[in-house]
Amino acid sequence: MAKICLCLTGRTLERDLEILEKYRKYVDIAELRADCLDPDERFQLRRFPEMAGLPVILTIRRGIDGGKFVGGEGARITILSKGLAFAEADRRRNFAYVDLEEDLEVPSLEEAARTFGTRIIRSYHNMQGVDSDLTGKIKALWRVGDELAKAAVMPQNLDDVLRVYQAAKETAGGEKILLCMGEYGTNTRILAEHIGSHLSYTTVKGEADLPAAASGQLDPKVMAETYRFREITKKTRIFAVTGYPLKVSASPYFFNSIFSIENTDAVYVPIPADSIQSFLRLAEELGVAGVSVTVPYKEAVIPFLSYKSEQVKSIGACNTIVASPQGWMGYNTDAQGFSDSLLEFSGRRDLKGRKITIIGAGGAARAVAAEVYRLKGKALILNRTAVRAREVAFPYRFAWSGLDAQGIALMDKYADIIIQTTSVGMEPKADADPIEFYQFRGKELVMDVIYKPEKTRCLQRAEAAGCRILNGYDMLLRQARYQYKYYTGKEFPPSLINRVGF
Ligand code: NDP
Repeated sequence: MAKICLCLTGRTLERDLEILEKYRKYVDIAELRADCLDPDERFQLRRFPEMAGLPVILTIRRGIDGGKFVGGEGARITILSKGLAFAEADRRRNFAYVDLEEDLEVPSLEEAARTFGTRIIRSYHNMQGVDSDLTGKIKALWRVGDELAKAAVMPQNLDDVLRVYQAAKETAGGEKILLCMGEYGTNTRILAEHIGSHLSYTTVKGEADLPAAASGQLDPKVMAETYRFREITKKTRIFAVTGYPLKVSASPYFFNSIFSIENTDAVYVPIPADSIQSFLRLAEELGVAGVSVTVPYKEAVIPFLSYKSEQVKSIGACNTIVASPQGWMGYNTDAQGFSDSLLEFSGRRDLKGRKITIIGAGGAARAVAAEVYRLKGKALILNRTAVRAREVAFPYRFAWSGLDAQGIALMDKYADIIIQTTSVGMEPKADADPIEFYQFRGKELVMDVIYKPEKTRCLQRAEAAGCRILNGYDMLLRQARYQYKYYTGKEFPPSLINRVGF
Protein backbone atom coordinates (compact mmCIF):
# COMPACT_ATOMS: atom_id res chain seq x y z
CA MET A 1 0.00 0.00 0.00
CA ALA A 2 1.21 3.50 -0.81
CA LYS A 3 2.21 5.50 2.26
CA ILE A 4 1.71 9.13 3.30
CA CYS A 5 5.00 10.93 3.76
CA LEU A 6 5.13 14.26 5.61
CA CYS A 7 7.86 16.63 4.39
CA LEU A 8 9.36 18.51 7.33
CA THR A 9 10.69 21.93 6.36
CA GLY A 10 11.27 23.58 9.75
CA ARG A 11 14.42 25.52 10.62
CA THR A 12 15.05 23.37 13.70
CA LEU A 13 14.64 19.71 14.60
CA GLU A 14 12.41 20.72 17.53
CA ARG A 15 10.05 22.55 15.18
CA ASP A 16 9.97 19.56 12.82
CA LEU A 17 9.16 17.29 15.73
CA GLU A 18 6.36 19.61 16.87
CA ILE A 19 4.79 19.46 13.40
CA LEU A 20 5.22 15.70 13.25
CA GLU A 21 3.45 15.26 16.60
CA LYS A 22 0.55 17.38 15.37
CA TYR A 23 0.08 15.28 12.22
CA ARG A 24 1.42 11.92 13.35
CA LYS A 25 -1.84 10.05 12.98
CA TYR A 26 -2.10 11.01 9.32
CA VAL A 27 1.41 10.00 8.24
CA ASP A 28 3.44 6.79 7.84
CA ILE A 29 6.84 8.23 6.97
CA ALA A 30 8.52 11.61 7.46
CA GLU A 31 11.03 13.27 5.18
CA LEU A 32 13.56 15.43 6.99
CA ARG A 33 14.38 18.18 4.54
CA ALA A 34 17.77 19.05 5.97
CA ASP A 35 18.22 21.79 3.36
CA CYS A 36 15.56 23.78 5.27
CA LEU A 37 17.34 23.41 8.65
CA ASP A 38 19.52 26.17 10.08
CA PRO A 39 23.20 25.31 9.40
CA ASP A 40 24.06 24.45 13.03
CA GLU A 41 20.96 22.24 13.31
CA ARG A 42 22.17 20.15 10.38
CA PHE A 43 24.99 18.78 12.51
CA GLN A 44 22.45 17.39 15.00
CA LEU A 45 20.27 15.60 12.48
CA ARG A 46 21.62 12.15 13.32
CA ARG A 47 19.35 12.25 16.40
CA PHE A 48 16.20 12.76 14.40
CA PRO A 49 15.06 9.19 13.53
CA GLU A 50 15.04 8.25 17.20
CA MET A 51 13.19 11.47 18.12
CA ALA A 52 10.63 10.88 15.34
CA GLY A 53 9.79 7.28 16.17
CA LEU A 54 8.72 6.43 12.61
CA PRO A 55 10.65 5.76 9.39
CA VAL A 56 12.46 8.91 8.24
CA ILE A 57 13.92 9.86 4.85
CA LEU A 58 17.04 12.02 4.93
CA THR A 59 17.06 14.55 2.10
CA ILE A 60 19.22 17.58 1.35
CA ARG A 61 17.70 19.08 -1.75
CA ARG A 62 19.69 21.45 -3.98
CA GLY A 63 18.23 24.58 -5.58
CA ILE A 64 18.23 23.00 -9.07
CA ASP A 65 16.04 20.18 -7.76
CA GLY A 66 13.59 22.52 -6.06
CA GLY A 67 15.35 22.65 -2.67
CA LYS A 68 16.98 25.28 -0.48
CA PHE A 69 20.55 24.03 -0.12
CA VAL A 70 22.99 26.70 -1.29
CA GLY A 71 26.28 25.26 0.00
CA GLY A 72 28.78 23.35 -2.11
CA GLU A 73 28.58 19.66 -2.98
CA GLY A 74 31.35 18.83 -0.47
CA ALA A 75 29.35 20.37 2.37
CA ARG A 76 26.25 18.47 1.32
CA ILE A 77 28.10 15.15 1.25
CA THR A 78 29.57 15.86 4.71
CA ILE A 79 26.08 16.43 6.15
CA LEU A 80 24.73 13.31 4.45
CA SER A 81 27.66 11.28 5.87
CA LYS A 82 26.97 12.62 9.35
CA GLY A 83 23.35 11.57 8.99
CA LEU A 84 24.32 8.07 7.98
CA ALA A 85 27.17 7.58 10.45
CA PHE A 86 26.44 4.49 12.45
CA ALA A 87 26.01 5.40 16.09
CA GLU A 88 23.67 2.79 17.48
CA ALA A 89 23.25 -0.94 17.14
CA ASP A 90 19.50 -0.43 17.03
CA ARG A 91 18.48 0.15 13.41
CA ARG A 92 15.34 2.04 14.37
CA ARG A 93 17.71 4.83 15.30
CA ASN A 94 19.01 5.10 11.76
CA PHE A 95 17.39 6.87 8.86
CA ALA A 96 15.14 4.40 7.06
CA TYR A 97 15.90 6.00 3.67
CA VAL A 98 18.36 8.46 2.20
CA ASP A 99 17.50 10.41 -0.94
CA LEU A 100 20.47 10.62 -3.29
CA GLU A 101 20.04 12.42 -6.62
CA GLU A 102 20.88 10.45 -9.73
CA ASP A 103 24.01 12.52 -10.42
CA LEU A 104 25.40 12.17 -6.90
CA GLU A 105 27.99 9.40 -7.15
CA VAL A 106 29.66 8.93 -3.76
CA PRO A 107 30.45 5.22 -3.19
CA SER A 108 31.29 5.77 0.50
CA LEU A 109 27.82 7.20 1.15
CA GLU A 110 26.14 4.32 -0.67
CA GLU A 111 28.32 1.85 1.21
CA ALA A 112 27.42 3.47 4.55
CA ALA A 113 23.72 3.42 3.71
CA ARG A 114 23.78 -0.27 2.78
CA THR A 115 25.85 -1.27 5.79
CA PHE A 116 23.54 0.50 8.24
CA GLY A 117 20.24 -0.65 6.72
CA THR A 118 19.32 2.71 5.17
CA ARG A 119 17.54 2.26 1.85
CA ILE A 120 18.67 4.47 -1.04
CA ILE A 121 16.08 6.49 -2.95
CA ARG A 122 17.71 7.34 -6.28
CA SER A 123 15.95 10.51 -7.28
CA TYR A 124 15.42 12.51 -10.43
CA HIS A 125 13.68 15.90 -10.64
CA ASN A 126 12.56 17.66 -13.75
CA MET A 127 11.30 21.10 -12.70
CA GLN A 128 10.53 22.15 -16.31
CA GLY A 129 8.48 19.36 -17.84
CA VAL A 130 8.13 15.62 -18.42
CA ASP A 131 10.93 13.78 -20.22
CA SER A 132 10.05 12.30 -23.61
CA ASP A 133 11.44 8.94 -22.44
CA LEU A 134 10.31 8.94 -18.82
CA THR A 135 10.10 5.14 -18.85
CA GLY A 136 13.78 4.87 -19.81
CA LYS A 137 14.65 7.49 -17.21
CA ILE A 138 12.93 5.55 -14.41
CA LYS A 139 14.53 2.27 -15.49
CA ALA A 140 17.97 3.91 -15.47
CA LEU A 141 17.45 4.92 -11.82
CA TRP A 142 17.33 1.27 -10.74
CA ARG A 143 21.07 0.82 -10.59
CA VAL A 144 21.29 -1.65 -7.73
CA GLY A 145 18.62 -4.21 -6.84
CA ASP A 146 17.31 -2.71 -3.61
CA GLU A 147 17.27 0.97 -4.63
CA LEU A 148 13.98 2.82 -4.92
CA ALA A 149 13.68 4.94 -8.06
CA LYS A 150 12.09 8.37 -7.60
CA ALA A 151 10.98 10.61 -10.48
CA ALA A 152 9.27 13.94 -9.76
CA VAL A 153 8.32 15.84 -12.90
CA MET A 154 6.52 19.09 -13.71
CA PRO A 155 3.76 18.59 -16.32
CA GLN A 156 2.94 21.64 -18.42
CA ASN A 157 -0.43 20.26 -19.48
CA LEU A 158 -2.69 17.27 -18.87
CA ASP A 159 -1.27 15.26 -21.79
CA ASP A 160 2.06 15.34 -19.91
CA VAL A 161 0.27 13.78 -16.92
CA LEU A 162 -1.15 11.08 -19.18
CA ARG A 163 2.39 10.22 -20.31
CA VAL A 164 3.42 9.83 -16.66
CA TYR A 165 0.61 7.32 -16.04
CA GLN A 166 1.72 5.47 -19.17
CA ALA A 167 5.35 5.43 -17.95
CA ALA A 168 4.03 4.11 -14.62
CA LYS A 169 2.41 1.19 -16.44
CA GLU A 170 5.57 0.50 -18.44
CA THR A 171 7.61 0.34 -15.24
CA ALA A 172 5.05 -1.63 -13.19
CA GLY A 173 6.64 -4.19 -10.93
CA GLY A 174 9.70 -2.08 -10.10
CA GLU A 175 9.61 -0.23 -6.78
CA LYS A 176 9.40 3.50 -7.33
CA ILE A 177 8.20 6.86 -6.15
CA LEU A 178 6.52 8.66 -9.02
CA LEU A 179 4.66 11.96 -8.98
CA CYS A 180 3.75 15.04 -10.93
CA MET A 181 4.37 18.43 -9.31
CA GLY A 182 2.40 21.61 -9.93
CA GLU A 183 -1.27 22.31 -10.57
CA TYR A 184 -1.79 19.37 -12.95
CA GLY A 185 -0.16 16.88 -10.59
CA THR A 186 -2.56 16.66 -7.61
CA ASN A 187 -4.31 13.61 -9.04
CA THR A 188 -1.02 11.66 -9.18
CA ARG A 189 -0.46 12.42 -5.51
CA ILE A 190 -3.94 11.22 -4.48
CA LEU A 191 -3.84 8.26 -6.84
CA ALA A 192 -0.37 7.12 -5.77
CA GLU A 193 -1.67 3.56 -5.62
CA HIS A 194 -2.84 3.74 -9.25
CA ILE A 195 0.48 5.18 -10.38
CA GLY A 196 2.33 2.48 -8.43
CA SER A 197 4.13 4.96 -6.18
CA HIS A 198 5.63 3.71 -2.92
CA LEU A 199 4.56 6.91 -1.15
CA SER A 200 2.96 10.31 -1.61
CA TYR A 201 4.58 13.46 -0.22
CA THR A 202 2.47 15.93 1.79
CA THR A 203 3.18 19.22 3.51
CA VAL A 204 1.36 21.08 6.25
CA LYS A 205 -0.58 24.19 5.24
CA GLY A 206 -1.15 27.33 7.22
CA GLU A 207 2.12 27.37 9.25
CA ALA A 208 3.66 30.70 8.32
CA ASP A 209 7.28 29.75 9.13
CA LEU A 210 7.29 26.57 7.03
CA PRO A 211 8.19 26.83 3.34
CA ALA A 212 6.30 24.58 0.92
CA ALA A 213 8.35 21.46 0.24
CA ALA A 214 7.25 21.26 -3.42
CA SER A 215 4.45 22.68 -5.52
CA GLY A 216 1.16 20.80 -5.56
CA GLN A 217 1.54 18.86 -2.31
CA LEU A 218 -1.60 18.35 -0.23
CA ASP A 219 -1.96 18.69 3.52
CA PRO A 220 -1.61 15.26 5.24
CA LYS A 221 -4.94 15.65 7.06
CA VAL A 222 -6.74 16.42 3.79
CA MET A 223 -4.99 13.47 2.15
CA ALA A 224 -5.88 11.05 4.95
CA GLU A 225 -9.34 12.31 5.88
CA THR A 226 -10.88 13.98 2.84
CA TYR A 227 -9.39 11.67 0.22
CA ARG A 228 -9.13 8.58 2.48
CA PHE A 229 -5.74 7.90 0.90
CA ARG A 230 -5.05 4.82 2.99
CA GLU A 231 -8.18 3.09 1.74
CA ILE A 232 -7.54 3.72 -1.96
CA THR A 233 -6.59 0.60 -3.89
CA LYS A 234 -6.33 -0.08 -7.62
CA LYS A 235 -9.95 -1.24 -7.46
CA THR A 236 -11.25 2.03 -5.98
CA ARG A 237 -13.67 3.72 -8.40
CA ILE A 238 -12.50 7.17 -9.45
CA PHE A 239 -14.76 10.19 -9.86
CA ALA A 240 -13.47 13.62 -10.79
CA VAL A 241 -14.24 17.28 -11.19
CA THR A 242 -12.65 19.14 -14.08
CA GLY A 243 -12.49 22.71 -15.34
CA TYR A 244 -9.92 25.49 -15.69
CA PRO A 245 -8.88 27.18 -13.55
CA LEU A 246 -10.30 24.75 -11.05
CA LYS A 247 -10.94 26.68 -7.85
CA VAL A 248 -13.23 24.11 -6.26
CA SER A 249 -13.41 23.26 -2.64
CA ALA A 250 -16.96 22.13 -2.02
CA SER A 251 -17.49 19.22 -4.41
CA PRO A 252 -14.49 16.99 -3.40
CA TYR A 253 -15.51 17.49 0.21
CA PHE A 254 -19.15 16.73 -0.59
CA PHE A 255 -18.58 13.51 -2.55
CA ASN A 256 -15.68 12.16 -0.51
CA SER A 257 -17.66 12.70 2.71
CA ILE A 258 -20.57 10.76 1.26
CA PHE A 259 -18.33 7.93 0.06
CA SER A 260 -16.84 7.79 3.54
CA ILE A 261 -20.22 7.80 5.36
CA GLU A 262 -21.58 5.14 3.02
CA ASN A 263 -18.37 3.13 3.09
CA THR A 264 -18.21 3.22 -0.70
CA ASP A 265 -14.91 2.23 -2.29
CA ALA A 266 -14.63 5.40 -4.36
CA VAL A 267 -12.64 8.64 -4.44
CA TYR A 268 -13.47 12.02 -6.00
CA VAL A 269 -10.44 13.88 -7.34
CA PRO A 270 -9.97 17.43 -8.72
CA ILE A 271 -8.30 17.34 -12.16
CA PRO A 272 -7.74 20.80 -13.69
CA ALA A 273 -7.51 20.47 -17.47
CA ASP A 274 -6.09 22.72 -20.16
CA SER A 275 -8.45 21.11 -22.70
CA ILE A 276 -11.50 18.87 -22.43
CA GLN A 277 -10.03 16.43 -24.99
CA SER A 278 -6.91 15.95 -22.83
CA PHE A 279 -9.10 15.48 -19.79
CA LEU A 280 -11.18 12.78 -21.49
CA ARG A 281 -8.03 10.97 -22.69
CA LEU A 282 -6.71 10.88 -19.10
CA ALA A 283 -10.12 9.93 -17.67
CA GLU A 284 -10.31 6.98 -20.08
CA GLU A 285 -6.77 5.88 -19.20
CA LEU A 286 -7.64 5.95 -15.48
CA GLY A 287 -11.08 4.40 -15.95
CA VAL A 288 -12.84 7.40 -14.35
CA ALA A 289 -16.48 6.49 -13.70
CA GLY A 290 -18.11 9.91 -13.48
CA VAL A 291 -17.15 13.57 -13.78
CA SER A 292 -18.49 16.95 -12.70
CA VAL A 293 -17.72 19.30 -15.59
CA THR A 294 -17.31 22.97 -14.67
CA VAL A 295 -16.31 26.28 -16.28
CA PRO A 296 -15.32 26.52 -19.14
CA TYR A 297 -16.12 23.03 -20.49
CA LYS A 298 -19.89 22.63 -20.05
CA GLU A 299 -20.53 23.34 -23.72
CA ALA A 300 -17.18 22.09 -25.07
CA VAL A 301 -17.77 18.58 -23.69
CA ILE A 302 -20.99 18.03 -25.68
CA PRO A 303 -19.39 16.87 -28.99
CA PHE A 304 -17.69 14.04 -27.09
CA LEU A 305 -20.88 12.55 -25.64
CA SER A 306 -22.35 9.31 -26.97
CA TYR A 307 -25.63 10.05 -25.14
CA LYS A 308 -27.16 13.45 -24.31
CA SER A 309 -30.10 13.83 -21.94
CA GLU A 310 -33.04 15.90 -23.16
CA GLN A 311 -31.91 18.71 -20.85
CA VAL A 312 -28.40 18.70 -22.29
CA LYS A 313 -29.92 18.93 -25.76
CA SER A 314 -32.33 21.74 -24.93
CA ILE A 315 -30.03 23.72 -22.62
CA GLY A 316 -26.87 23.20 -24.63
CA ALA A 317 -24.75 22.71 -21.51
CA CYS A 318 -23.62 19.56 -19.72
CA ASN A 319 -22.20 19.46 -16.18
CA THR A 320 -22.25 15.72 -15.45
CA ILE A 321 -20.76 12.88 -17.47
CA VAL A 322 -20.82 9.19 -16.68
CA ALA A 323 -18.71 6.47 -18.34
CA SER A 324 -20.55 3.63 -20.06
CA PRO A 325 -19.45 0.85 -22.43
CA GLN A 326 -20.87 2.98 -25.28
CA GLY A 327 -18.97 6.11 -24.26
CA TRP A 328 -19.70 9.19 -22.14
CA MET A 329 -23.31 9.86 -21.14
CA GLY A 330 -24.06 13.56 -20.51
CA TYR A 331 -26.56 15.14 -18.12
CA ASN A 332 -27.35 18.57 -16.71
CA THR A 333 -28.00 18.77 -12.97
CA ASP A 334 -27.47 22.55 -12.66
CA ALA A 335 -30.98 23.16 -14.00
CA GLN A 336 -32.84 21.10 -11.41
CA GLY A 337 -30.44 22.19 -8.63
CA PHE A 338 -31.16 25.82 -9.51
CA SER A 339 -34.95 25.55 -9.61
CA ASP A 340 -35.17 23.47 -6.41
CA SER A 341 -33.11 26.12 -4.66
CA LEU A 342 -35.00 29.12 -6.06
CA LEU A 343 -38.45 27.64 -5.41
CA GLU A 344 -37.64 26.88 -1.81
CA PHE A 345 -36.13 30.33 -1.34
CA SER A 346 -39.13 32.07 -2.86
CA GLY A 347 -41.67 29.78 -1.18
CA ARG A 348 -43.37 29.17 -4.55
CA ARG A 349 -44.27 26.10 -6.58
CA ASP A 350 -43.69 27.81 -9.93
CA LEU A 351 -42.78 31.20 -11.38
CA LYS A 352 -46.12 32.01 -13.01
CA GLY A 353 -46.62 35.76 -13.26
CA ARG A 354 -43.05 36.49 -12.13
CA LYS A 355 -40.87 38.86 -14.16
CA ILE A 356 -37.24 37.85 -13.87
CA THR A 357 -33.90 39.30 -14.96
CA ILE A 358 -31.15 36.79 -15.75
CA ILE A 359 -27.68 38.32 -15.87
CA GLY A 360 -25.35 36.31 -18.15
CA ALA A 361 -25.69 33.91 -21.06
CA GLY A 362 -23.16 31.17 -20.32
CA GLY A 363 -23.74 27.56 -19.29
CA ALA A 364 -25.32 28.44 -15.94
CA ALA A 365 -27.60 31.04 -17.57
CA ARG A 366 -28.80 28.48 -20.14
CA ALA A 367 -29.82 26.10 -17.35
CA VAL A 368 -31.50 28.94 -15.42
CA ALA A 369 -33.39 30.21 -18.49
CA ALA A 370 -34.67 26.71 -19.33
CA GLU A 371 -36.00 26.28 -15.80
CA VAL A 372 -37.56 29.76 -15.64
CA TYR A 373 -39.41 28.88 -18.86
CA ARG A 374 -40.45 25.42 -17.56
CA LEU A 375 -41.77 27.05 -14.40
CA LYS A 376 -43.76 29.56 -16.47
CA GLY A 377 -41.80 32.71 -15.60
CA LYS A 378 -41.05 35.55 -18.03
CA ALA A 379 -37.47 36.71 -18.30
CA LEU A 380 -35.08 39.35 -19.59
CA ILE A 381 -31.59 38.09 -20.44
CA LEU A 382 -28.74 40.59 -20.16
CA ASN A 383 -25.24 39.68 -21.24
CA ARG A 384 -21.96 41.44 -22.01
CA THR A 385 -21.97 39.78 -25.43
CA ALA A 386 -25.48 40.72 -26.55
CA VAL A 387 -25.65 38.13 -29.32
CA ARG A 388 -25.30 35.35 -26.74
CA ALA A 389 -28.16 36.91 -24.72
CA ARG A 390 -30.27 36.69 -27.85
CA GLU A 391 -29.31 33.02 -28.41
CA VAL A 392 -30.37 32.10 -24.87
CA ALA A 393 -33.58 34.15 -25.00
CA PHE A 394 -34.73 33.08 -28.49
CA PRO A 395 -36.14 29.55 -27.84
CA TYR A 396 -38.24 30.86 -24.94
CA ARG A 397 -39.28 34.20 -26.48
CA PHE A 398 -37.65 36.02 -23.58
CA ALA A 399 -36.52 39.64 -23.85
CA TRP A 400 -32.78 40.24 -24.20
CA SER A 401 -30.20 43.03 -24.30
CA GLY A 402 -26.54 43.80 -23.78
CA LEU A 403 -25.28 44.32 -20.23
CA ASP A 404 -25.21 48.11 -20.67
CA ALA A 405 -27.20 51.22 -19.66
CA GLN A 406 -30.03 50.30 -22.04
CA GLY A 407 -30.23 46.76 -20.66
CA ILE A 408 -30.09 47.94 -17.03
CA ALA A 409 -32.99 50.34 -17.78
CA LEU A 410 -35.08 47.37 -18.97
CA MET A 411 -34.59 45.63 -15.61
CA ASP A 412 -37.26 47.81 -14.01
CA LYS A 413 -39.89 45.74 -15.83
CA TYR A 414 -38.28 42.42 -14.81
CA ALA A 415 -37.50 43.08 -11.18
CA ASP A 416 -39.49 40.50 -9.19
CA ILE A 417 -36.48 38.20 -9.17
CA ILE A 418 -32.90 38.92 -10.27
CA ILE A 419 -30.62 35.98 -10.96
CA GLN A 420 -26.92 36.70 -11.42
CA THR A 421 -25.20 33.88 -13.36
CA THR A 422 -21.96 35.41 -14.67
CA SER A 423 -18.60 34.66 -13.09
CA VAL A 424 -18.20 38.38 -12.27
CA GLY A 425 -17.72 38.92 -8.52
CA MET A 426 -16.26 35.45 -7.94
CA GLU A 427 -13.08 35.11 -5.88
CA PRO A 428 -10.36 36.27 -6.35
CA LYS A 429 -11.97 39.32 -8.03
CA ALA A 430 -14.67 39.65 -5.39
CA ASP A 431 -15.04 43.44 -5.65
CA ALA A 432 -16.62 43.29 -9.13
CA ASP A 433 -20.37 43.67 -9.66
CA PRO A 434 -21.85 43.02 -13.14
CA ILE A 435 -24.88 45.28 -12.47
CA GLU A 436 -23.19 48.00 -10.46
CA PHE A 437 -25.41 50.69 -12.06
CA TYR A 438 -28.67 49.00 -11.08
CA GLN A 439 -30.33 50.54 -8.00
CA PHE A 440 -32.08 47.85 -5.95
CA ARG A 441 -35.50 48.89 -4.69
CA GLY A 442 -35.54 46.44 -1.83
CA LYS A 443 -38.41 44.31 -3.09
CA GLU A 444 -36.49 42.11 -5.51
CA LEU A 445 -35.53 38.54 -4.61
CA VAL A 446 -31.87 38.34 -5.59
CA MET A 447 -29.99 35.13 -6.28
CA ASP A 448 -26.32 34.92 -7.25
CA VAL A 449 -25.15 31.48 -8.44
CA ILE A 450 -21.65 32.29 -7.16
CA TYR A 451 -20.93 30.88 -3.70
CA LYS A 452 -17.37 32.13 -3.22
CA PRO A 453 -17.42 34.69 -1.68
CA GLU A 454 -20.48 33.88 0.39
CA LYS A 455 -21.92 37.33 -0.40
CA THR A 456 -20.84 38.82 -3.70
CA ARG A 457 -20.72 42.58 -4.01
CA CYS A 458 -23.99 42.41 -5.93
CA LEU A 459 -25.64 40.45 -3.07
CA GLN A 460 -24.22 42.86 -0.48
CA ARG A 461 -25.74 45.84 -2.28
CA ALA A 462 -29.07 44.04 -2.66
CA GLU A 463 -29.15 43.12 1.03
CA ALA A 464 -28.27 46.69 2.05
CA ALA A 465 -31.25 47.89 -0.01
CA GLY A 466 -33.56 45.51 1.88
CA CYS A 467 -33.76 42.64 -0.66
CA ARG A 468 -33.87 38.97 0.33
CA ILE A 469 -30.75 37.30 -1.01
CA LEU A 470 -29.51 33.78 -1.79
CA ASN A 471 -26.08 32.64 -2.94
CA GLY A 472 -25.24 29.60 -5.09
CA TYR A 473 -24.16 27.20 -2.34
CA ASP A 474 -27.59 25.67 -1.89
CA MET A 475 -27.86 25.23 -5.68
CA LEU A 476 -24.43 23.58 -5.75
CA LEU A 477 -25.40 21.06 -3.09
CA ARG A 478 -28.74 20.33 -4.69
CA GLN A 479 -27.25 19.75 -8.14
CA ALA A 480 -24.58 17.53 -6.54
CA ARG A 481 -27.33 15.37 -5.04
CA TYR A 482 -28.62 14.75 -8.57
CA GLN A 483 -25.07 13.98 -9.69
CA TYR A 484 -24.87 11.42 -6.90
CA LYS A 485 -27.81 9.64 -8.49
CA TYR A 486 -26.11 9.51 -11.89
CA TYR A 487 -22.83 8.37 -10.34
CA THR A 488 -24.20 5.67 -8.06
CA GLY A 489 -27.55 4.75 -9.61
CA LYS A 490 -29.20 5.44 -6.22
CA GLU A 491 -31.40 8.27 -4.95
CA PHE A 492 -29.57 10.66 -2.63
CA PRO A 493 -30.51 9.44 0.86
CA PRO A 494 -32.42 12.18 2.70
CA SER A 495 -30.71 10.99 5.90
CA LEU A 496 -27.45 12.44 4.53
CA ILE A 497 -28.84 15.96 4.19
CA ASN A 498 -27.48 18.13 7.00
CA ARG A 499 -24.80 15.57 7.89
CA VAL A 500 -21.23 16.91 7.95
CA GLY A 501 -22.42 20.34 6.92
CA PHE A 502 -24.40 19.77 3.72
P1 NDP B 1 -19.53 30.41 -18.70
O1 NDP B 1 -18.08 30.56 -18.97
O2 NDP B 1 -20.33 29.49 -19.53
O3 NDP B 1 -20.24 31.87 -18.81
C1 NDP B 1 -19.67 32.98 -18.17
C2 NDP B 1 -20.66 34.15 -18.21
O4 NDP B 1 -20.06 35.23 -17.48
C3 NDP B 1 -20.99 34.67 -19.60
O5 NDP B 1 -22.28 35.19 -19.61
C4 NDP B 1 -19.96 35.79 -19.74
O6 NDP B 1 -20.32 36.79 -20.66
C5 NDP B 1 -19.98 36.37 -18.36
N1 NDP B 1 -18.76 37.12 -18.06
C6 NDP B 1 -17.53 36.63 -17.85
N2 NDP B 1 -16.68 37.64 -17.60
C7 NDP B 1 -17.40 38.79 -17.66
C8 NDP B 1 -17.08 40.15 -17.47
N3 NDP B 1 -15.84 40.54 -17.17
N4 NDP B 1 -18.09 41.05 -17.59
C9 NDP B 1 -19.33 40.68 -17.88
N5 NDP B 1 -19.71 39.39 -18.07
C10 NDP B 1 -18.75 38.46 -17.96
O7 NDP B 1 -19.64 30.05 -17.16
P2 NDP B 1 -20.86 29.33 -16.39
O8 NDP B 1 -22.13 29.91 -16.88
O9 NDP B 1 -20.70 27.87 -16.43
O10 NDP B 1 -20.59 29.79 -14.88
C11 NDP B 1 -20.79 31.12 -14.48
C12 NDP B 1 -20.72 31.23 -12.97
O11 NDP B 1 -21.72 30.43 -12.37
C13 NDP B 1 -19.40 30.75 -12.38
O12 NDP B 1 -19.04 31.65 -11.35
C14 NDP B 1 -19.75 29.39 -11.78
O13 NDP B 1 -18.92 29.06 -10.69
C15 NDP B 1 -21.18 29.63 -11.33
N6 NDP B 1 -21.95 28.39 -11.26
C16 NDP B 1 -22.51 28.02 -10.04
C17 NDP B 1 -23.23 26.87 -9.94
C18 NDP B 1 -23.80 26.47 -8.62
O14 NDP B 1 -24.18 25.29 -8.46
N7 NDP B 1 -23.91 27.38 -7.68
C19 NDP B 1 -23.46 25.97 -11.09
C20 NDP B 1 -22.89 26.49 -12.32
C21 NDP B 1 -22.15 27.64 -12.38
P3 NDP B 1 -19.86 36.69 -22.22
O15 NDP B 1 -20.85 35.76 -22.87
O16 NDP B 1 -19.93 38.08 -22.69
O17 NDP B 1 -18.46 36.15 -22.22
